[in-house]
Amino acid sequence: MQVCIDDEWVVAPANRERTLIETRLLPVFDAGGTVAGVLGVARDITERRRFEERLARREHEFRTLVENSPDTVARYGKDCRRIYVNPTFASLSVGGADALLGKAPSEFPGGPDTVLYEKHIADVFATASDREFELSWQANDGRRLCHLIRLTPELGANGTVETVLAVGRDISELQASRVKIHRLAYFDALTALPNRVLFNEHLRQAISVSLPDHVTAVVMIDLDRFKGVNDTMGHAVGDELLCEAARRLLACVRPGDTVARFGGDEFAVLIPEVSARDVLEQISATIIDRLDEPFLLGAREVFVSCSVGIALYPDDSTDAKDLLRYADSAMYLAKRSGRRGYRFYTKELTIEATARLSLESELRRAIDQGELELYYQPQILLRSAEVIGSEALLRWNHPGVGFIRPAQFVPLAEETGLIVDIGRWVLREACRAATEWNSASDKSHKVSINLSVRQFQARDLAVTIAEILDETGCRPEWLEFEITESLLLEEDDSVMTSLLAFSSMGISIAIDDFGTGYSALSYLTRFPIDTLKIDRTFVQQVTTDRRHAELVKAILSIARCLGQRVVAEGVETTEQAAFLEAHGCEVAQGFLYSKPLPKSAMPSLPRRLHPNATNEGKP
Ligand code: C2E
Ligand code: CA
Ligand code: CA
Repeated sequence: MQVCIDDEWVVAPANRERTLIETRLLPVFDAGGTVAGVLGVARDITERRRFEERLARREHEFRTLVENSPDTVARYGKDCRRIYVNPTFASLSVGGADALLGKAPSEFPGGPDTVLYEKHIADVFATASDREFELSWQANDGRRLCHLIRLTPELGANGTVETVLAVGRDISELQASRVKIHRLAYFDALTALPNRVLFNEHLRQAISVSLPDHVTAVVMIDLDRFKGVNDTMGHAVGDELLCEAARRLLACVRPGDTVARFGGDEFAVLIPEVSARDVLEQISATIIDRLDEPFLLGAREVFVSCSVGIALYPDDSTDAKDLLRYADSAMYLAKRSGRRGYRFYTKELTIEATARLSLESELRRAIDQGELELYYQPQILLRSAEVIGSEALLRWNHPGVGFIRPAQFVPLAEETGLIVDIGRWVLREACRAATEWNSASDKSHKVSINLSVRQFQARDLAVTIAEILDETGCRPEWLEFEITESLLLEEDDSVMTSLLAFSSMGISIAIDDFGTGYSALSYLTRFPIDTLKIDRTFVQQVTTDRRHAELVKAILSIARCLGQRVVAEGVETTEQAAFLEAHGCEVAQGFLYSKPLPKSAMPSLPRRLHPNATNEGKP
């Protein structure tokens, strides 16, 4: 007595078209309630069936799309809990789909960003508009993932948001390369410290939020003697030293301060919100002390020190660029006033720095424009007044200013490294002169050349010299190199190596300004030294000051013991000359005999230079 439903494909014989026929057999009852007959209804349901099939296929297609999508897909109900997750999402989460379904993001997996996530979902429910944001979270294998999540409202029949669909695209790789680009743009590759760009950004930020009654300090730090380490021990060792210096600097400041590397051996520290100046003095002193400690590089202990310059916001300037420049000038002042110290910026420094800058660029030009010239000051044998050589002394014939003395530009040339080029020029000129004079006469004339420490630090000084000798035809015995005592105290072997090379070539070596330096006499025997030049300040007081007289006598007896020649420089009076000769000094140089002369005046110099009454006593 039931309704009987059936369907059946029938094929029309005429056109062979297939039609799906649904047949229903319904019982028909009479008044007494018994089945009186059967009503048969048949209808064509081909279209409906095809529609249903299409729908199922579509549904299946969408489902496979979603289930196989590399994106994570989740559907959220009004309570922010998940009602669907696709396999990708499930596979990334500990506990799979079971753990995710029925939970809100903050319940599972939880984490700092999920609260914000729920707020976004709530917003989509409230506004029925899309949302897109990035979410960082941890996958079940421990990897940190970054997903770009797109939330889309799903509307019900009445137009209100029923559910929210969340599709998450894995942008971890993109994020990683973004981080990498950020690192490259803002951090120093060697030390991983912020670079100049990031430092400037932090500085601008610090300025914008600075508190009244507080200062922000820009501290510039430059390692003294780093270049020497780099040149003599190699770049790998130099790099190691920089990394260690970076670690020490970080240990000197608070966590909120910025320690940056600007390149080379130049570091900067940003110290915001400082209430008192003596805090900065303390920090600077700590930095200097920490960098003073020996660096253990490989098996060697290396000593570098540092110079520190400080500029303050808002006291010195309110402009970030100025502050950096000012801290730099202050740092240079610290360097020039003996290194290992710190200096605060003052207004006067700007004026000085500008002057130095123009001096430096003019000096560069001077080399190219041929404004440098060598003068020669004769050296004589005290016993016979015979001219036996001369010291080459540098002059700068500045077109606007006239002659500039080396004291005014040699220190700057040493600081900037220009002395290496200048020194090479001096060597070539002096060798040429020595060749000319020695070839034209049967008497030998030794030319003394002043060498600066920086020239030793540049590579291959001995090779350069050998080349110049070759090029100019100068013989080594026509030359003497004058070096300062401080050079012998340099720790690296390159000084010893170079000096031994010169000595074995036959070039003699003199210690200049002897007695003014550290006077550690032991090096007189360790290094191949031929000559001591007694400093002018002692010579000039031998006849007026007993202690100086004793000192000069002591120097002369040391030299005698060690078999070294002594040259007295700055001899101005016949009394001085007499004293020196009486105590065994052989050679003299000074205004008493001659001032430094241009090269052209040298050939006409008499063989003997007797004390010149007109020069006597004049500086
Ligand atoms: P220094 O090597 O001690 O040179 C001697 C200086 O004393 C010269 O000064 C010379 O003119 C001066 N002098 C010589 N006799 C007398 C005297 O009787 N009385 C007085 N009061 N002074 C005298 P100058 O030429 O101004 O050179 C100064 C310094 O510059 C030199 O001192 C040397 O250290 C440096 N210098 C000069 N030429 C060169 C160079 O080619 N290379 C390098 N690296 N330094 C150089
Ligand atoms: Ca000299
Ligand atoms: Ca000297």
